[in-house]
Amino acid sequence: MRAASGSLFGLAYGDSLGKPTEFQEYAAIVARYGPGGPRVLVGEPALVTDDTQMALAVGEALFEVGRITPAAFEPVLRRRFLEWAASPENDRAPGMTCLRACAALADGRPWTRATQTGSKGCGANMRVTPVGLKPGLTEDERAGAAQLQAALTHGHPTGLAASELTAWAVYLLAGGLAPADLLAALRERCSEQRKVYRGDWLGDLWQQPTVTSPEEFIARGWDETAAALDRVADALASGDHTGDPCLATGAGWIAEEALATALYVYLQSPDEPVAVVGRGAASSGDSDSIACLAGAFAGASLGLSAWPADWQTQIEYSDRLFKLGMAWD
Ligand SMILES: [Mg+2]
Repeated sequence: MRAASGSLFGLAYGDSLGKPTEFQEYAAIVARYGPGGPRVLVGEPALVTDDTQMALAVGEALFEVGRITPAAFEPVLRRRFLEWAASPENDRAPGMTCLRACAALADGRPWTRATQTGSKGCGANMRVTPVGLKPGLTEDERAGAAQLQAALTHGHPTGLAASELTAWAVYLLAGGLAPADLLAALRERCSEQRKVYRGDWLGDLWQQPTVTSPEEFIARGWDETAAALDRVADALASGDHTGDPCLATGAGWIAEEALATALYVYLQSPDEPVAVVGRGAASSGDSDSIACLAGAFAGASLGLSAWPADWQTQIEYSDRLFKLGMAWD
């Protein structure tokens, strides 16, 4: 089935389709591409954005480290992020939070003093899906790695919770969960994890002004993420899916909204992957991040063969996506 390859390439395809629409109004996107959004990759190669670049950084860090522990994963992840930040290819309108945190990480200080604690921007969420694809992780390793990769740059609890839930969604879909059951499973995860602070991974990150306990810190993140899922359920139940999806579930510049709007556009037609990424790109908000997550979901569920075959060689970083997918499938 090749779920890992399908998800990694799906992420890149969505990212590439959403790249030109990220900073466009919905009406302008529809006028140009139609209501289904862009559905043709453009360019040789078809360029992606920082979303795919950073997802590759996370994926290749996971690949490089055998057993994923906080001590083994953090320095490799840090090095991969810094390599990305310094790369001449880092010219794809990256988020300020990632740039600021990487600048601080570069001097070797503990990540807890480099991370942007006030930021729950979607920059940690758009790159997390490889964590859901790496085989052989325990539940704590998967959850801890998803949160730690977020925490290096985005220290806000909702950045952590939404990232973990995004990786969890990919993990469930790759494992064969029916898309119709996904939303309920994610909602349940929010309830189960609400007071689980992974101190082995996160250290004293919770010690922020006005926060009195680790449980209180992380519960805020899960509660905001759960509320975003409830908006997805309402939007799907409404039956009217015309128009800008961001009006229903959020613009996606912040972590829980990127997850929510990606889920919304995916769950409208989970068996039509090209329609899913086109719909994600036809959005007024953070179109590349919404479409890349939606593509990662569709690809995890349907596998590599569900995508147009010729896209595989057209997409930028095809060799790196292929290598990582082959290693995990
Ligand atoms: Mg981007």
